Amino acid sequence: MRLRCAATCLVAVALVLAGCSASDDEPEARSSPAAKTSTPSATSASPNADAPALDPDDPALDAALSRPVEDRVYPSVGDPGVDALHYQLDLTWAPKSKALDAVETLIFRATEDASEFQLDFGRSLTITSLALDGEKVAFRERGKDLVVRAPVQADERHTLKLRYSGTPKPVAAPTTRDDFSTIGWQITDQGETWTMQEPFGAYSWYAVNDHPSDKALYDFTLTTRSPWVGVANGKLRSRQQAGGSTVTDWHLDEPAASYLVTVAFGNFRMTRDTSKSGVPMTYWTPRDSAISLRSVEVAADELDWLEGKLGPYPFSTLGLLVVDSRSGMETQTMITLGTTDYTLSPSVVVHEMIHQWYGDQVTPRDWRDVWMNEGMAMYLQVVWEAQEYGFELDETLAEWAAQDGEQRATNGPPANYDPATFGEGNIYYLPALMWDQLRQRIGDRQFWRLVKAWPRSRDNANASYDDITAWWSRKTGEDLRPMFDAWLLGRQSPPYST
Ligand SMILES: [Zn+2]
Repeated sequence: MRLRCAATCLVAVALVLAGCSASDDEPEARSSPAAKTSTPSATSASPNADAPALDPDDPALDAALSRPVEDRVYPSVGDPGVDALHYQLDLTWAPKSKALDAVETLIFRATEDASEFQLDFGRSLTITSLALDGEKVAFRERGKDLVVRAPVQADERHTLKLRYSGTPKPVAAPTTRDDFSTIGWQITDQGETWTMQEPFGAYSWYAVNDHPSDKALYDFTLTTRSPWVGVANGKLRSRQQAGGSTVTDWHLDEPAASYLVTVAFGNFRMTRDTSKSGVPMTYWTPRDSAISLRSVEVAADELDWLEGKLGPYPFSTLGLLVVDSRSGMETQTMITLGTTDYTLSPSVVVHEMIHQWYGDQVTPRDWRDVWMNEGMAMYLQVVWEAQEYGFELDETLAEWAAQDGEQRATNGPPANYDPATFGEGNIYYLPALMWDQLRQRIGDRQFWRLVKAWPRSRDNANASYDDITAWWSRKTGEDLRPMFDAWLLGRQSPPYST
């Protein structure tokens, strides 16, 4: 995710706090009757809703095998008992009535023997049918927890199919940032939709194990009235118009965490591009906004620069999607950008592309370690800016270092932050400073070689604090753990030298 302010003005990150919103992730309990049998009307079912489901034992799904854990920062979200492998999401969006009709088919692996299992699911949506392996089963909804009352055994794979409808409602974000206060499915007055959902909130629009440790594969079929179109992660496989509707099929061929999933409906214009290295790119911009297209077209050249630093782009396609937001998000293979001057700036575009390696290819095992994403994205962003705009990197970093104490005091150390202040400056600037100190310690050549090697060493996987600190120590032949601990866990500012 981008931070709110350009690197050159970051000294002022004195954090103008926008007022804390109450958390909404543990809503009051509500009961729901088990397994209703009604089916959606013909107009609500998308064309692929009844297509044959994937075989749960298809070895292609092994790419999405994960080892889910309980989150140490936001334990109420996600369930380690479920390892989601593949989500098929058939979504039909009616802009006028702001109604979503959905058919979801989830293939998952149970990680333990249990008498029931649960997913996260928005309480604003109504389930009209639910079946496990083709059989109707009982379920109950307890706040945002969808509990399916069916026994499962460790390592067995199942197919859960549900139909639901309603107007999705985003959930309160655990942050004091001023660029967003709710997360999940957003709807504009005109009925356009988009999603940004870090650290959670995917559950506002589909039933999901909403945790970064559980990566999964995705296919989407998106239907809306023409000329509007639905956009999602991955490759656009087909786009058809029939009966006044546009139907798009999207396929994500490498697993993604739920916070990196994006879906938007709107009147978008698609523009194709290709990077110098041959990555197929698409820009999805509001049809009436030439400015936003010009803004995102810098991505191809920036990707060229980044591949020089980080190695080949890790996925098969890259898209940039511009929506009516004030933030930016590194959604995997389809970056979601708001329409503000800053979110459409070259700095934010480069920042979100860095995350395709740092955050998307390798993803923190839980939210304690989101510094892994933001520290390197911030550091590489400022390295790029210094080169692009011709300022002294050391001077900017010294300005950041001067803010270290206040950042730690206000929001906590980067790897032990206050859960109510997700995504504040402490997880960006302080680990960025740490990376620069490490670069000075081990030298540019070794540092940049290892920066490039780390995401590749954990391709499509997750990593913990111990994983990354042990890896850097092993690769450099030095015990770097004290340095990592001081920067990431310390309450006091570590020594900083330029
Ligand atoms: Zn970021």
